[in-house]
Amino acid sequence: MALIVDVFPARSDNFGYLAHDEASGRTAAIDAPEAGPIKAALARRGWTLTDILITHHHIDHVEAIAELKSASGARVVGPAAEADKIEELDELVGDGDVVELGDTRFDVLATPGHTLGHVVFHDSVGGHLFSADALFSLGVGRMFEGTPGPMWAGLERLRALPDATLVYCGHEYTESNARFALSIDPENAALKKRAEEVKSLREQGKPTIPFPLGEDKLANPFLRADAPELAEHYGLTGADPAEVFAAIRKGKDNF
Ligand code: ZN
Ligand code: FE
Repeated sequence: MALIVDVFPARSDNFGYLAHDEASGRTAAIDAPEAGPIKAALARRGWTLTDILITHHHIDHVEAIAELKSASGARVVGPAAEADKIEELDELVGDGDVVELGDTRFDVLATPGHTLGHVVFHDSVGGHLFSADALFSLGVGRMFEGTPGPMWAGLERLRALPDATLVYCGHEYTESNARFALSIDPENAALKKRAEEVKSLREQGKPTIPFPLGEDKLANPFLRADAPELAEHYGLTGADPAEVFAAIRKGKDNF
């Protein structure tokens, strides 16, 4: 049996996700952006919330924990490295840990940078990656707490996951990410193709999520910090990819 993922909008530009393990009937909210849309999705599906998996401490990912937990008694799992910043965590996890949701096993990977303790949840059997603000479609979260070296190293590990992996990220930022990506990597055919798809999805009011990791490996400049053409764009030919990554991140911040 499989993992079924329900995708819905929450807050102004967050995604909410329910991950439902068919075999056991367990259902996890991935992050807790807003109680209303999460409860509505549960009701629509007829699922009961049993778990809440938290990626990082930002308010738009944790605000509904208390309300959901008191309504459902769900187990709350989150990053040990941010335990002092997140209330109501029952279980603390870090890189290399496994979170079980019935028959589904999520590997926990540390992805520091957006926040220092940010983690992502990877179901390697079903091919689902819940990346929150560590990896967006055609972009990455702002580097609020980390430094370029570890942030790039975390992304390299995500990049090593199979191409067919479906990525569920925290926000619908794809269209503006595409504009920036095209400005620094204009000859990239995979990027141009993805940007066209994104434009048409958004024109139809559809989400650009989930997206196959394999497409993003070719099109997301932040996953291509070791590509010669991006180093060249920033006058950094031969430099450490982490340095190119830092230049791309800075470029996006000022775009
Ligand atoms: Zn965030
Ligand atoms: Fe966020």
